[in-house]
Amino acid sequence: MAAVPAAETQPLSLSRRLLLSTVARCLAAGLATGLAFAPASAGAAPAPVRYRISDWNPQGRTFRVRVETQAAAPVTLALSRWVPGYYQLQSLREALVRMSATVDGRSAALVETPDRWRWTVAAAAGQRVAVEYTVLAQDPPTSRGMGQAFVDGDSAFVLPAACLLRVVGQEQEPCEVEVEPLGAGAVAAPLPERGGRFLADGWDQLADSPLETGNLRFRSFTQHGVPYRIVTTGKPAVSMDNFTYLARRAAATVPRFFGSTPYPDYTFFAHFGSGGGSVTGLEHARCTTLAYGGPEGMSNANFRGQPASLIFHELFHAWNAKAMRPASLTPYNYDAVPRTRTLWLAEGFTTYYGYLLTRRSGVWSEEELLWNLGREYGRYLRSPGRRVTSLFDASEFTWEDRIYGEGRGASYYTKGALAALVLDLRLRKGSAGTRSLDDVMRWLYRRYGPAAGYPDDVLPRAVRESTGYDLTAEIRRLTEGATDLPVPSVLADLGYRVILGDLPRVTPLAKVSPEARRLRDEWLRVEP
Ligand SMILES: [Zn+2]
Repeated sequence: MAAVPAAETQPLSLSRRLLLSTVARCLAAGLATGLAFAPASAGAAPAPVRYRISDWNPQGRTFRVRVETQAAAPVTLALSRWVPGYYQLQSLREALVRMSATVDGRSAALVETPDRWRWTVAAAAGQRVAVEYTVLAQDPPTSRGMGQAFVDGDSAFVLPAACLLRVVGQEQEPCEVEVEPLGAGAVAAPLPERGGRFLADGWDQLADSPLETGNLRFRSFTQHGVPYRIVTTGKPAVSMDNFTYLARRAAATVPRFFGSTPYPDYTFFAHFGSGGGSVTGLEHARCTTLAYGGPEGMSNANFRGQPASLIFHELFHAWNAKAMRPASLTPYNYDAVPRTRTLWLAEGFTTYYGYLLTRRSGVWSEEELLWNLGREYGRYLRSPGRRVTSLFDASEFTWEDRIYGEGRGASYYTKGALAALVLDLRLRKGSAGTRSLDDVMRWLYRRYGPAAGYPDDVLPRAVRESTGYDLTAEIRRLTEGATDLPVPSVLADLGYRVILGDLPRVTPLAKVSPEARRLRDEWLRVEP
C-alpha cells in the first residue's frame, strides 16, 4: 500500500459496470430460486462458491453478506487475519455480527472457533450450506473504502479479503459474487461478469478484487494495447480530464519500464473523500484503490505535484508486490499475519520508483523530484531508530507497536526508498551510466514474476546477475545493518548538494563535472 500522513502519500483496484436493470433481474432470479445448486454428481464440475452482498444501510454503515456452498461435510468458513498489501492489524472479526446458518434452507448451528476466526456448520455431503452475516463498515470518509469497507448514501465499497468468509478447502474452486446496487447506481469490480454475477477463478482472485457500487463515474482508455478504466466516487476537486492525464502517463511509463504487463486489464478506483488531505492507496493485481481526502489530497491546482506519484506507486505495485513478491507472501496465508523481512523491497523501492517514474513520465519537473527526495531524507533524519533498526527488522516487526517499522524507529517506506536511491546512484556512477537499479528490478520481475516468491536475501544476487557488479557487502550494510545511509554522498555524484533543515533541500551545485552532468541527465530523462 502507500500511506502518508496528511498531505503526503501512499497506495491501492477495479471493475465492470452492471446496469441496475440487469442486476435487479439477476437478484430477482436468485431470490426466486434461492440460489439453489444442483446436487453433486460424480465427474461433475465443482459448484462455485456463491456470495451475495446486499441490504446497504448508509445510516448504520452496514451491509449483509450471504455465502453459499455445497461441499463435503462439515463446512468450515474462515475470516482472513490480515489483508494482503495492508501490513497492519485491523478489527476484522469485530466487524462481523448477526451471523446465522442454514442447511438446505433450514436453520442450523454455526459453531465458532474464536481463536482461529473460523465457523463450522454440520451438514451431510451434497447439502446446501448458507451462512449470512452483517458487516460493520469501518473505513473512514477520507478514503471512502480501502482496507475493509465503506457505505454512505452515495457509494459503497467492499474489499472481499477483509469482509467475505473463505470456504476452507474450496479455495481453488470458482467463486461468483452478486452485488445488489446501492440506490440506482452501477456496480464495478475488476472481474469478468456473466448474468449479473462477477466471476473469480478462486479465493485468491476474489479476495483481491474490490467491489464498488453507487454513484460511480467511469472513464476508459487504452495504453500499449491494454484496456484501463477509471472509476471514481465522492466529490473530486480535480477534473476527470486531469486525473485521466495522470493515469495515462502512469499506464504509458510503468509497463514500458518492465517491458510487459502482468494484467489483462486494469482499473484505477479513485476515491475522493472528505476530512483532510490524507493520500493513501492499496494495490491489487488488476486494480488499485487510490484515496484523496479532500481538495488538499488532489485538486486541479496540485494534481501535477506530490499527489500524482501515488498513481505511479500503486501501478508499479502490480509488478512489485503483486506479480513478484516475497516468498513469505507466496502463496498468501490468510490465517496468520506473515513475518516478512523484505517489505522495504516491496514498498520502499516502490516509493522510490513512484517518484522517479513520475519524473520519467514528464509529469514532475526535476524540482518536484528533488523536493520529494529532500522530504523523504528529512523524515529519515527524524527517525529515532535510523541507526538502530535495519530494514529487515523494520519489515519483520510492522505488526507490532506502530506500523511500517516505525515502532522500532525506522519506516521501511522511507528508509527503503532512500536505500533504493543509494543503490541506484551507486550503480549508475560505478558503471558510468550503463547500469542502474532499473536493470535489477527488471531481472527480479523476469525471474520471480508472476508470484514465484523471492527469498529475503535476493538482492545481492539480483544486482550481480543483472548488472555484473558485486555489491553484496554494501547491500548488506544498507538492508541488514543500521548504519546511516550515504544519501548526500550519492547525490553529490550527480552534482547535487543537500541543505539540511526541517525540510532538507536537494539543490544542483553551481559547477558540475561533465560526468556528473551526464549521469544526472540520464537519471532525469523524460520518456514520451
Ligand atoms: Zn505501496
